[in-house]
Amino acid sequence: MNKTPKQTEKTAWKCGKCGGELERGLVKASYLGNDFEVEELKCLNCGIVLITEELALGKMFEVEQSLEDK
Ligand SMILES: [Zn+2]
Repeated sequence: MNKTPKQTEKTAWKCGKCGGELERGLVKASYLGNDFEVEELKCLNCGIVLITEELALGKMFEVEQSLEDK
């Protein structure tokens, strides 16, 4: 029953690599041979994707669960 986590608009996200502006967007990821999309932060300047560990692990856990159900 998890809804979208509350977002903190006050946080100014900057790229740790080039200091560029970050924009939220869907990023394709792959885990255990399964492709899925996660909403993450991407640098508009250099294109690096910042996937938060918490979100990535949570999504991967879901994938593992769905695999076991098959
Ligand atoms: Zn950057």
